[in-house]
Amino acid sequence: MALSSDTEKCKRISDDLLSSQEHLNKVQEIAHLGSWSWDILNNTLLWSDEAYRIFGLSPTGSFQTYEAFIKSVHREDRAKLKEAVKSALADPDYRYELEHRVVRPDGSERVVMERGKVEWDSFGKPISMMGTVHDITNIRSVEDQLKLVQIVLNSSDEGVFISDSQNKIISVNQSLCKLYGYDSAEMLGQRPSIFKSDRQDKEFYTELWQTLVDKDEWTGEMWNRRKNGETFPVKTTIQAVRNKFGEVSNFVCIYKDLSDIKQRDEELVYSTTHDVLTSLPNRQLFLDRLRQAIRQAHREDSRVSVSVLNIDLFKKINDSLGHTHGDELLKMIAQRLKNSVRQEDTVSRLGGDEFSIIHPNAGNVEAVALMMQRIFDGFAKPFYLAGKEFYITLSTGITLYPEDGMDPDKMLRNADLAMNRAKDVGRSNFQFFTSTLDDRATNRLTIENDMRLGLKRGEFFLNYQPKVDLSTGQITGMESLSRWKPSGKDQVSPVEFIPIAEETGLIVPLGDFILRDACFQTKNWLDINPNLRVAVNLSASQFRQKNLLMRLDSALRDSGLPPEKLEIEITESMLVDNIDEVINILCKIKERGITIAMDDFGTGYSSLSVLKRFPLDTLKIDQSFVRDLTVDSDDAQIVTAIISMAKSLHLKVVAEGVETKEQLMFLTERECDMMQGYYFSKPLVEDDFSALLTQKKSLLDIG
Ligand code: C2E
Ligand code: MG
Ligand code: MG
Repeated sequence: MALSSDTEKCKRISDDLLSSQEHLNKVQEIAHLGSWSWDILNNTLLWSDEAYRIFGLSPTGSFQTYEAFIKSVHREDRAKLKEAVKSALADPDYRYELEHRVVRPDGSERVVMERGKVEWDSFGKPISMMGTVHDITNIRSVEDQLKLVQIVLNSSDEGVFISDSQNKIISVNQSLCKLYGYDSAEMLGQRPSIFKSDRQDKEFYTELWQTLVDKDEWTGEMWNRRKNGETFPVKTTIQAVRNKFGEVSNFVCIYKDLSDIKQRDEELVYSTTHDVLTSLPNRQLFLDRLRQAIRQAHREDSRVSVSVLNIDLFKKINDSLGHTHGDELLKMIAQRLKNSVRQEDTVSRLGGDEFSIIHPNAGNVEAVALMMQRIFDGFAKPFYLAGKEFYITLSTGITLYPEDGMDPDKMLRNADLAMNRAKDVGRSNFQFFTSTLDDRATNRLTIENDMRLGLKRGEFFLNYQPKVDLSTGQITGMESLSRWKPSGKDQVSPVEFIPIAEETGLIVPLGDFILRDACFQTKNWLDINPNLRVAVNLSASQFRQKNLLMRLDSALRDSGLPPEKLEIEITESMLVDNIDEVINILCKIKERGITIAMDDFGTGYSSLSVLKRFPLDTLKIDQSFVRDLTVDSDDAQIVTAIISMAKSLHLKVVAEGVETKEQLMFLTERECDMMQGYYFSKPLVEDDFSALLTQKKSLLDIG
C-alpha cells in the first residue's frame, strides 16, 4: 500500500513535472520567449521548443553545438555576439544582453533579444550558461514604423499632434512646436483646447465635433492662439482613428499655417482696390463704397453727395516739374483732401489728376456747398515742392443722391459733366449737376452718332475763303473751312462739331478728309492761279496724333500738291503743353516746305519770348480785335502792336474778319500783309471759289 502510494506519488510528481514542462512550453510559445542552456565543458546546447521555433527549426529535443547556433545568427551580427559571449565568460559582472538577427533555414529573418547568465565552478571557471531568446521581430517592426512616422511627421511643415481617445495629446511633431511656440513637453498630456482662440463661437466647435462623430473627419479654417497670445489663421484637418473594435482610439490633427497666405490675400485685395501712389481707394473701391452709401441712404432716406475734383492745369505742373515731383504733389493733394473731410467720407483717386469724395448723410445742397467750400479753403494755402510755393485750384462737379442719379455710374457720370462745366466757366470753382448739363450731354451723343453717319454719307465738305494781298489786291491763298450739312437738317457750324469730333476721336478721319480734300482741290486750282496756298486748320488733338507727319506726307504725295502750297493753322492752345515736343513736330513740318500760321492770335497767352521759339511764318490777328478796330482805341493799339511785333519777328500778318472799308484802310496804313473777311468774300463752295479765281481781278476794288 505504502509502495503503491509511493509509486503513485512518484507518478504524480513525474506527471506534475511533465505537466509543468508542457506548461512552460506553452507559456514560452505564447510569449515568443525560448530558453536555452549551454554546457560549456561538453559544448552541448539544449534549446527549448520555442527556441527551436524561433530559429525556424522543429523541436527535436536533441543537443546543438555552440558553432551550429552561431551559424544561424545573421552574418553581420556574429562578431558582436561572439564578443558578448567572450565577455560573459571572462567577467562575472558582465551582463549578457544583446539584440541580434537570426536567419532561418528558409532565409527569413527574425530579431531576437538574448539574455544569459554564466555558472561558475569553485575555481572561478565558467561551466555552463543559461538564458532566454525572445523573438521581438513584431515589436521592432512596430517601433520601426513608429520611428518612420515620427521622421515623416518631423519633416512636415505642418503642425501635427496625435491625441488619445480622451483627446489628450500623446504625440507632437517639431512643426507643431514651432507653430504654437510650446515645447513638446508642455503640450503632451494637454487637450487641444490650449490652442483655442476666442475668434470662433461655441456653435463652431459643436458643429466641428458633430462632423467628426458623423464622418470621422473635419477640415476647415479657424483662428488659433500661439503661446505668446497671438492669434493666427490655420487650415485644420482632424481625423478620428478607430481600432479594430470600431472605437475611436486616437485623433490626428494637422494644422497648416495660413498667416502668410491670408496676408498675401489681404495685400492682393489692397493693391487691387487702392491707388499705388496715394494709397487712396481706387475707382473700383470707390464704386463699391458708393453702392453701399446709396443703399444706406435708401434705407435711411438720406442724401449722398459725390464730387469729382479735377486739379486745374496739373499737366502743366507735371511737365514743368517732372513726373517725380508731380507724383509728390499728388500725394500732398491726396493728404490735404483727406484732412478736410469727415471720418465717414471716402476720398479716392479715380486716376490721373482726378479725385473723388463720397459724402454720406450729405444733408441739403447748402450743407454740401459748405463742405466743398471748406475743401476749397484748405487749398488756399500753398504747397511746397522743389523749394517753391505752388497754389493749386480745383474744378469740381457735384451730384446728389437721389436727385441726380440713383446708381453709382449715373452719379459719377453726372458729377463729371458738372466738373467739365466748372472747367468751362473758368476753373477753380464747383458746380452742382443740373439737368441742362444732361441735356447737353445727350445732345452731344446724338450729334456724335449723326457725325459718324454723316462722314460715311459724304455730308461734310469744304468752303474756301480767299486771303487777299493788300499791296496787289490779288488772291494769294485761301483758308479751307469745313461745313456739315446733315440730310434734312440745318447746316451745323464747325465751332459746334469740331470740339465734339475732337472729344470722340472722330477728328482723325474727319481731319484726314479735310486735309486731303483741300490738297486735291488746290492742286486743280493751281492751273488757274499758280500762286495759291491753301490753309488748313489743325485741331489740338490732330496735332497730338503720332502719325500727323505721315498723314501730311501722304496727302501731299497722293494729290501732287507741292508742300509749299500748303499752310497749316495752329492755335496758341496747342503750344502750352510739351513745348519741346511741339517745337520738334513744327520743325519737321517746316522742313518739308509746309508753312505754319498762328491762328486767332491775341486770344491766348503766348508771350513774345515763347513765340520766338516756334518756327512760324504767319500771324493771323483774331477777328475780335479787328471787329472794333475803328471804334475801340484799345483794339486799335493792340492790332498796331501785333503788326509791328510780327514784322520785327519777320512774320507775315493776316487780319481776320475784315468787314468794312475803314478796317481795310486802318490795316493798310499799318502795312498789314494780307486780309481775310466778308469785305472781300464770305467762305465759298468750290464752284463759287473757282469762279472768283477765274475773274482774276483785284479784290481791293470791291468797296
Ligand atoms: P478760324 O480758323 O479763325 O476761321 C475763321 C472763321 O471766321 C470762319 O468761321 C469764317 O467763316 C469766319 N469769318 C471769316 N471772315 C469773317 C468776317 O468778315 N466776319 C465774321 N464775323 N466772320 C468771318 P467758321 O467757318 O465758322 O469757322 C469757325 C472756326 O471753326 C474756325 O475759326 C476754325 O477754328 C474752326 N474750323 C473751321 N473749319 C475747320 C477745319 O476744317 N478744321 C478745324 N480743325 N477747325 C476748323
Ligand atoms: Mg483758321
Ligand atoms: Mg481764326
